[in-house]
Amino acid sequence: MATIARIALPRAVRQLFDYRVPDGMTLSPGQRVRVPLGRQRALGLVMILDPPDSPDMTLKPVEAIVEDWPVLPQQTRDLLLWAARYYQHPPGECVFAALPPALRRGAPASLPQPTVWSALATDATSLPTQARRQRDLLAWLNQHPGQPLTSIKAAGFSREVLKNLETRGLAAEHAASEAPQRWPAAPSIELNTDQATVLAGLNAPGKGFASHLVFGITGSGKTELYIEFIKQRITMAPDPDQAQVLVLVPEISLTPQTLARFETHFGARIAVWHSALNATERLSTWTRVRQGEPLILIGTRSAVLLPYANLVSIVVDEEHDGSYKQMEGFRYSARDLAIYRAWQSDCPVILGSATPSLESWYNARQQRYHLHRLERRAGNATLPRTELVDVRSRPLKGGLSAPLLEAIGQALEAGNQVLLFINRRGFAPVVMCFECGTPIECPHCDARLTFHRYDNCLRCHHCGHQQAVPRACPECGEQALNAVGQGTEKTETLLAERFPETPVIRVDRDSTRRRGQLDELLEPVRKGSPCILVGTQMLAKGHDFPGVTLAGILDADGGLFSSDFRGPEHLAQLVIQVAGRAGRGERGGRVLIQTCQSGHPMLNQLCSGDYPSVADTLLHEREQAGLPPVSFMTALRAEAPSMADCLALLDDLAHRAEASSTPVDVLGPFPAIIARKANRHRAQILFQSQDRPALHRLTNQLCRYLEQNRPTGGVRWAVDVDPQSLD
Ligand code: ADP
Ligand code: ZN
Repeated sequence: MATIARIALPRAVRQLFDYRVPDGMTLSPGQRVRVPLGRQRALGLVMILDPPDSPDMTLKPVEAIVEDWPVLPQQTRDLLLWAARYYQHPPGECVFAALPPALRRGAPASLPQPTVWSALATDATSLPTQARRQRDLLAWLNQHPGQPLTSIKAAGFSREVLKNLETRGLAAEHAASEAPQRWPAAPSIELNTDQATVLAGLNAPGKGFASHLVFGITGSGKTELYIEFIKQRITMAPDPDQAQVLVLVPEISLTPQTLARFETHFGARIAVWHSALNATERLSTWTRVRQGEPLILIGTRSAVLLPYANLVSIVVDEEHDGSYKQMEGFRYSARDLAIYRAWQSDCPVILGSATPSLESWYNARQQRYHLHRLERRAGNATLPRTELVDVRSRPLKGGLSAPLLEAIGQALEAGNQVLLFINRRGFAPVVMCFECGTPIECPHCDARLTFHRYDNCLRCHHCGHQQAVPRACPECGEQALNAVGQGTEKTETLLAERFPETPVIRVDRDSTRRRGQLDELLEPVRKGSPCILVGTQMLAKGHDFPGVTLAGILDADGGLFSSDFRGPEHLAQLVIQVAGRAGRGERGGRVLIQTCQSGHPMLNQLCSGDYPSVADTLLHEREQAGLPPVSFMTALRAEAPSMADCLALLDDLAHRAEASSTPVDVLGPFPAIIARKANRHRAQILFQSQDRPALHRLTNQLCRYLEQNRPTGGVRWAVDVDPQSLD
């Protein structure tokens, strides 16, 4: 009787596919294989081998083996199977999401060793004085050991200069895996007493698995702490030359500055993983991880799915950041998978933030995570003063009140920089006819078009539709169209008029489309001369602007009255993060928040900068309302050409859920906040329970039901476990 191979195939079905292992074929889990599927052949990955239970002659045989070693090691397979169950997602899609594109397409899983360059000396005295480029390159190579030729060229050095250094015996090419063990390259920074206390606390539970939450205000020295912790963990590992470390960061914070900080300490051990890598780079890094190369991988969300061989610790920086949750397809939370991964590897995991998510804060309060605090800024910087500016019955210009404009003027006059946060890009969020009052809407979405003045265009921020601005109102024909409300562009324009001597730098998705563009924009800011930064969320994350002494939040009220229950939490995080950008240098700082709700308790609490109290208050409110993280939630979403079809499907699910008499609350169905997007109507239903297993069972039943009874009418559905956004 033949062994049964349970195989992951990239198909939207919530199961593995069974095949027979033909006589004479030796197969082990983790290998890629080719199998017949319908009339086609498919590439699959063996997840499980089972002894035959009954002679099932109908099973088709595995046709061919792609490579004779497992591309996915057991730990990663276990993680993916667990995640497929937890997130109720087809396991084949989870597994294929964890393979680099080349391997998904069936390319061979071995690589010629990539070669890199390193300096062989730090001393440039043997170089002739006129060899300036060679000197520069030698210095650069000493700062960036183990670089491929492409990076060296990207840094502005030619191949000739490199070859000259090689001829002089000052630089050499070598296999990446044999990069000189340069770490610790930089001497360890001396931790202050707070950091040292936290470091001791992180080590207190010993070697194995432990979850830590480091609540550290912005600028308190978390990054330095992570670096020291990682060094210690590598040194403590049974074999430091095989130790791997994962550092998860939000996409936006993976800047050259962040990398440079890690590189000075770990040199060639640093590897990166993010969305802009091309297929070759992905395959190369993926293979280095799989081959067990000792590295510190700094990566965004999907780095948690890489095939690590020997993790000795995990750090999740800015753990509250929304980008850790995948919003489509395999909707996993990289933060939560990081915890599972650390548990599997029996190593510690640190979640760090100045504004922990309520999920993590709750886990710390429940003693599931060890809580550590860094409540003072490292170095000489002080925390800024935060004040509310009540804008009721104050005329605003470009969204700016007189007190804010005055504060901007003062800051600039004193030679400082200013940062203004506004949550809308474009010039104006609405274009409206002042004759009949009709706003111009997207023809494909239930949403208004945003006016972008730089190219005189109306754009939908939901489906990408764009059109020219009509000369007259499409409704009444009057030439009375006007842009209403503020976006980043309008504020930028007003500021440029008001402060003509000062550069105004706008940072939003429109001004940073190219990779590297954000860094170019921020270059003058780093130089320190007076300027005004105007931007969206992007500005609130990860950057260090020592010259900024004034930060302004143009509108706090959207978050207070959001239809998403996480609105106030996100607003609180934003305010603290924006405040954290100001006064990082030694000049102190000031934050002004414009609101119509100056009496609002949470806003006032935020002004004290005391995030823990705000988090406790918000958590208490969630408790009262029975909302996550105190309970658990799953969303089932449907979209279709007709709203009636969406609602009919979800109604059916609601009835089934209610009939199942499990301890699960059913909320909805209701149309999504943007009920029509790109001509598809959208609705959702929420299931909520204190009893996670019961919620899980119910969700699973409903998914199976939907798989077996495929909805008609072009309805597509998706399940989102622990949804982070409800729009
Ligand atoms: P966070 O990650 O918490 O925002 P950082 O690690 O970026 O904080 O530290 C903020 C600033 O303080 C950085 O410029 C850093 O170099 C400096 N810093 C951190 N720790 C120390 C220390 N122990 N001694 C002196 N400066 C420090
Ligand atoms: Zn649209």
